[in-house]
Amino acid sequence: MVIPPKNRDSLKSRLELIKPHFIVQEFVSKRVYDLLGDYAILLIDRGIIETVVAVREFFQCPVVINTWKNYGAIDGRGYRDLKENTGSTGSMHRKGGALDFVVQGISSRIVRETIIANRHLFPHVTRMEDKVEWVHIDNKFTEKVDIELFQP
Ligand SMILES: [Zn+2]
Repeated sequence: MVIPPKNRDSLKSRLELIKPHFIVQEFVSKRVYDLLGDYAILLIDRGIIETVVAVREFFQCPVVINTWKNYGAIDGRGYRDLKENTGSTGSMHRKGGALDFVVQGISSRIVRETIIANRHLFPHVTRMEDKVEWVHIDNKFTEKVDIELFQP
């Protein structure tokens, strides 16, 4: 008899992971959410979701990703679908391997430096954009041990 591996990455477990701090709508555009509902969270890499939750808990300050659901117009900071024109065609946002966010009350430069200085707490991040007013994290493969900083 084959015993199936325990499913540690179910939709339910992802929703429970984000629930204290985020809603699914922050990770995708309205177009994607209207199509998929909460299943849309499956479009984002699990490690990247774990990272933004860890950032929220590390800084103990609200972390803002997409705002279209609540009060704003921002909808391209998470998963970008095929019709989305923002960003490059090869962007990790199109693969669900990237998120942009701001930590309320803390400059993005400080957040970047803190993530780098505490890299062991954020093991899924391989790259961040440098010198931008938001924090971009992604998991694109690099040859480096350290987090790679790149210009958008
Ligand atoms: Zn980005």
